[in-house]
Amino acid sequence: MFDEFSIKSLIRPVPDFPKPGVVFRDITPLFQSPRALRLVADSFIQRYVESDFSHIAAMDARGFLIGSIIAYELNKPLILFRKQGKLPADVLAESYQTEYGEALLEVHADSLCEGDSVLIFDDLIATGGTLLAAARLVRRMGATVHEAAAIIDLPELGGSQKLNDSGIPTFCLTAFA
Ligand code: IMP
Repeated sequence: MFDEFSIKSLIRPVPDFPKPGVVFRDITPLFQSPRALRLVADSFIQRYVESDFSHIAAMDARGFLIGSIIAYELNKPLILFRKQGKLPADVLAESYQTEYGEALLEVHADSLCEGDSVLIFDDLIATGGTLLAAARLVRRMGATVHEAAAIIDLPELGGSQKLNDSGIPTFCLTAFA
């Protein structure tokens, strides 16, 4: 059974990282617990095992960790959405504001086709900038977003609300106010 309390206790708050005033939610302790990692991955797998989306899109870099486990278990194609300059072939790019500044998200231009339906996945939703940029890229390729999912939501930063407002349902395992 999913135990939100034990998951939460393995997410370490790091004050003033990466800049003063920010409390960074560090998920590395969660990955050091095989039981917790399995619990987290299984929670997403259970949620999506009956879903009929066609692809999983994982965000650079911590989104890759669980995103790839879900794709493996559900036998779905995995698409990597990466920070600027990491992908070798032709890319589409979208700029977005993060909690910490401006960034560019890129995806290979031939990753998706019209009619594809995509689960977009990251470790955490803060301002929503990353997943909203991913959704714009998905839509530019003619595909639709099935849902945005993450381990952690920071609702006070408004990202999950913004995603919902733009027609994208969100699902997170836990939240920090
Ligand atoms: P957003 O784009 O503002 O929603 O920020 C989410 C992105 O920034 C994700 O890719 C996260 O990995 C990263 N991020 C922002 N804040 C944190 C944090 O406190 N812990 C871990 N990752 C974070």
